[in-house]
Amino acid sequence: MMSGKSGFGIAGIAGRMGRMLIEEIAAAGAPLAGGIDHDGGVNDATLFADIAGLAGACEVVIDFTHASAVRGHARMLARAGTAWVLGTTGLSAEDEAEVARAAQSVAVVYAPNFSPGVNLVLALAAQMASALPAAVYDAEILEMHHRQKVDAPSGTAIGIGRAVAQGRRVALEDVMESGRDGHTGARKPGAIGFAALRGGQVVGEHTLLFASADEHISLTHRAFDRRVFAAGAVRAALWVRGRPAGLYSMMDVLGMVPTPKPA
Ligand code: NAD
Repeated sequence: MMSGKSGFGIAGIAGRMGRMLIEEIAAAGAPLAGGIDHDGGVNDATLFADIAGLAGACEVVIDFTHASAVRGHARMLARAGTAWVLGTTGLSAEDEAEVARAAQSVAVVYAPNFSPGVNLVLALAAQMASALPAAVYDAEILEMHHRQKVDAPSGTAIGIGRAVAQGRRVALEDVMESGRDGHTGARKPGAIGFAALRGGQVVGEHTLLFASADEHISLTHRAFDRRVFAAGAVRAALWVRGRPAGLYSMMDVLGMVPTPKPA
């Protein structure tokens, strides 16, 4: 730990997750160094001008902002030597490459979903996919979120897809079929399909379906309160303090059977 740094910082402190993180950090009895946000501050939490200021002041930055912020945050946190708990979703391959580069110099926990239940779904998804042959069982992933969500499919849906792909020993990018519309042609053998619903204030629902001609098997997770993500992110922040540089997943934090880390 560099001198002068203490406690946790929140990137996106005025957002839905940011506000909940303030409460969960307090509930964990951990000190809050402050945060950053385009929309200004929250209550009496210290507001830093930029990510460099925040990274210089705290041990761990918990980041729930927007994908457009990720590359800049990656470079700045690596330079400052500050650990990073990254929950932002909608990252491009280039963004993820920058996260991986930062993880060469600092400890990073990157998870599309910080809920323990979803991480169990990821582990089960990989197991199911390796037991159910792709030629017989079509894998489809359906997700629903609140009307404000800006990216689709959700990071969690993509994480489930990656777990299925890992169980089938293929690359998700080679078999992903997302957002079918119009004359799409027949389903490609071995495809992993995605569909997204948006509406109301749904915190997060994900169903993984394996469909053969003879049977359907589905696994559904429903989050009722986004507090489950905030509590998981704070748990990750407590876990990552003082860890060596590396790219960690929520599986590592929970001590569960490892599944593929985000690329
Ligand atoms: P939100 O829009 O309510 O909050 C995001 C906040 O970040 C806003 O206040 C915005 O002003 C701020 N912001 C955006 N870019 C910024 C930047 N460059 N610098 C400083 N502040 C910036 O959104 P939310 O519901 O809190 O979700 C935030 C992100 O977290 C989304 O990508 C969402 O998908 C993701 N998320 C992940 C999990 C998980 O478990 N991994 C759970 C919930 C949400």
